[in-house]
Amino acid sequence: MLKTISGFDRIGEENAFAVLARATELAGQGRDIINLGIGQPDFRTPDHIVEAAIKALRDGHHGYTPATGIAPLREAVAADLAKRHGVETDPGNVLIVPGGKVTMFMAILMFGEPGTEILYPDPGFPIYRSMIEFTGARPVPVPIREENDFAFSAEETLSLLNEKTRLLILNSPANPTGGVTPGSEIEALVKGLEGHPHVAVLSDEIYSQMTYDGMEHVSLLKYDSIRDRLILLDGWSKTYAMTGWRMGFSLWPDALADKARKLAVNAWSCVNAPAQFAGLAALTGPQDAVRDMVAEFDGRRKVIVEGLNRLPGVSCRTPLGAFYAFPNIAGTGWKAKKLASALLEEAGVATIGGPDFGILGEGYIRLSYANSTENIKIALARIEKFLEQ
Ligand code: PLP
Repeated sequence: MLKTISGFDRIGEENAFAVLARATELAGQGRDIINLGIGQPDFRTPDHIVEAAIKALRDGHHGYTPATGIAPLREAVAADLAKRHGVETDPGNVLIVPGGKVTMFMAILMFGEPGTEILYPDPGFPIYRSMIEFTGARPVPVPIREENDFAFSAEETLSLLNEKTRLLILNSPANPTGGVTPGSEIEALVKGLEGHPHVAVLSDEIYSQMTYDGMEHVSLLKYDSIRDRLILLDGWSKTYAMTGWRMGFSLWPDALADKARKLAVNAWSCVNAPAQFAGLAALTGPQDAVRDMVAEFDGRRKVIVEGLNRLPGVSCRTPLGAFYAFPNIAGTGWKAKKLASALLEEAGVATIGGPDFGILGEGYIRLSYANSTENIKIALARIEKFLEQ
């Protein structure tokens, strides 16, 4: 019997990929499946970004790059952060990574070990808890509540900190809820964190450009008092419809930047070179495609929320960010995972059961509206018919 480390007895995964596999299998059998399960934009990567990658290959950029990423791209990231958040950062603290997920992997590996605690949002992106468990640290869920419009509460978060806490993970705009935490709450949290200087913060801002109804995304980067322990996670996947390119970036505080670089050298050497040139074109080129995509998501958001609220036993808050709706389905009498599974198998609509995002996800399902308005309407009609049966 091969004996691996005990972390593998505890590591989890992301059920969205299992749902995607089952949806693809059913579609392969000739079933008509509408996929509202997976969280990726249904748009093509804008042409000028694709062309930049092709040009990079033609120009001979097919070798290793510096482990931290090509210099112009790190500078472009710093310029982008300055433009969007009004904050100066050193390109030397930017790390280009193969996908947004990699930053959470690195940050959790850096801080988790038995005897320590890491706080993470519940419901939240499943990899947070999975990786915390892997390291042997104690995962401490921070409840994300519907009655709070799925924003996190500064008071509740602060009440969970203690001397064993090493890392606090925050995510706004959030997956799976679409919740956006208002600036006032973030400010209160930062104020409280000033009394806990041993706690590092990982702010997952991968949906930073996707907010609606005038809701402002407030980056944790804005707060000087925690800059020396803030790890910022962002990337290209959602903003530029580039999930398959595997392009993300992080900003590390001085004390951690070299540790992060060493992890990169040990694990992947560098991100693939032409993809980095594509990322550069994305940040420095026209941003119309981003605005158009967000406007399109906004329209679909209204359609899906209105449609969900018409369903028997279902109520849905209006999400203010990302591209997910997280309706409360308690009134249908179904358990969330059973409902998600029945909707896929019987109604041909892929969704994800709330418990795949944490214990507090029971009573909810997640629907991604990264699909056409037409498909969303058909999916809603199918769900309605199914629930009325
Ligand atoms: N963080 C959150 C909250 C996400 O929802 C996702 C993807 O779904 C990621 C990070 C990872 O993004 P990437 O595909 O760039 O690894």
